[in-house]
Amino acid sequence: MIGDFEAIEEDLAGRVGRLDTAHGRLLTPAFFPVVNPFRRELGVTDISRVGFSNLITNSYFLMKRGVKQKVHEFLNFDGVVMTDSGAYQVLQYGGIEATNREVVEYELQISPDIAVFLDLPTGDTSDRHEAIRSVEETNRRAEEIRGLIANSTAIWAHPIQGGTFLDLVRTSALAADSKEEFKMLALGSPTPLMEGYDYRTLVRMVVAAKTSVSRGKPFHLFGGGVPHLIPLAVALGVDSFDSASYVLYARDGRYMTRERVYRVEDLRELPCSCPICSSHTAKELMESEERSRLLALHNLYKIREEVAETRVAVQEGRLFEYVQQKVMSHPALYSAFREFRNLVDYLERYDPRTKGEPRGLFLFNGDSLFRPEVVRHKRRMDEWKTEGEVTLVCYNLLSRPFVRSLGVDNTYVITPFFGIVPANASEAYPLSQFEEPGDLDPEVLEDMRNSLKEFLRRNRPIKVSVKCDPPLRELLHVDSVSAPEL
Ligand SMILES: [Zn+2]
Repeated sequence: MIGDFEAIEEDLAGRVGRLDTAHGRLLTPAFFPVVNPFRRELGVTDISRVGFSNLITNSYFLMKRGVKQKVHEFLNFDGVVMTDSGAYQVLQYGGIEATNREVVEYELQISPDIAVFLDLPTGDTSDRHEAIRSVEETNRRAEEIRGLIANSTAIWAHPIQGGTFLDLVRTSALAADSKEEFKMLALGSPTPLMEGYDYRTLVRMVVAAKTSVSRGKPFHLFGGGVPHLIPLAVALGVDSFDSASYVLYARDGRYMTRERVYRVEDLRELPCSCPICSSHTAKELMESEERSRLLALHNLYKIREEVAETRVAVQEGRLFEYVQQKVMSHPALYSAFREFRNLVDYLERYDPRTKGEPRGLFLFNGDSLFRPEVVRHKRRMDEWKTEGEVTLVCYNLLSRPFVRSLGVDNTYVITPFFGIVPANASEAYPLSQFEEPGDLDPEVLEDMRNSLKEFLRRNRPIKVSVKCDPPLRELLHVDSVSAPEL
């Protein structure tokens, strides 16, 4: 049924899903390229050729130009069409010459698959009263059209406002989620946050909104058109994006890679093998009369690749590692990722307990201590009770799974990241199915030490023997923690 959304695979708070629309199933996470049919630099055919079966266009522009046809017919496009409302123009130019009701009635007439009413974006205002007004007015406008859209074949998205005021984002999200006519939710993201690389605030906004809404609805992020942001946003539960950045950047001579953005004149060669880059040298691209168009196409290829690889990471259950790898492209992105340390409960709540084919975890540094699998095990160990004689063996003396080389009751393995692992539970994924660096970071060693201390403090076994090779024995301060009991 139209509007049905099903999560096929989940990882962290992210998912790969299927959204049923009037023009077929949309695989998420999805990126909607913004298409302006009145600018000829990049057409619908180009978008399809790059591999997109979905796009977003502005219904207000179509209305102003007097387009009367159905939007698919007008665009000559058979895929999933989302229409925005002109709200972005309100944000940029302070007003448009149409009311919410007029825009919505027009959208009903042109029949997009996904539609947005004319909300009032908060933008980047630092004025709380203005932000409150945008939340209230957006809510009022949603109420205004509930009756109108009740029998529509489009999936209506309800924008969530509040900007950087997280309490207002929550209020707005709750109100949006409570109206059953709206099967999709969409967070308004202030463009300046993205342009100013304030991804950390963006992370907080997404989480504030996501924790206030039901998980069953697809969650869209307005904007978010740079490839390097996509994996992080997906990990937090964003299902779709839209942006004109690929073309705006292109007009400005900016060349996207999956990690960063270059000025095309600074490039001596093109580090990409998309059809554009494999048929042009950097110089040809720069001097081409079609420069904007070619750059826009290339940028779009990069976005498409990033979305696809993020979906693969979810399917493989490797999203944490993938995000960890991607965020190293910019300190601001890394700083947003560090916010995951404060989001342990959020990520742990949604991260699936079992993932398809279990694959060994790659654990690196202190950041890996905040993976849901690690946190979950430690919470379980907080409840663990043992008494009598206890044997503790350091992980590096054993083959894996640990139980094969031990197999005894009351034997525990001291491991990096997971801390104390009961030997007889060590076959349970992923307690011994992980790879770690040969040299452990001080933060990881410190965590191992604390797990050991905490385990002994809580259980107070009558006798403890620790098998550890000398370097680790020293690093873990084994002698001092276990001496009283030995
Ligand atoms: Zn390219």
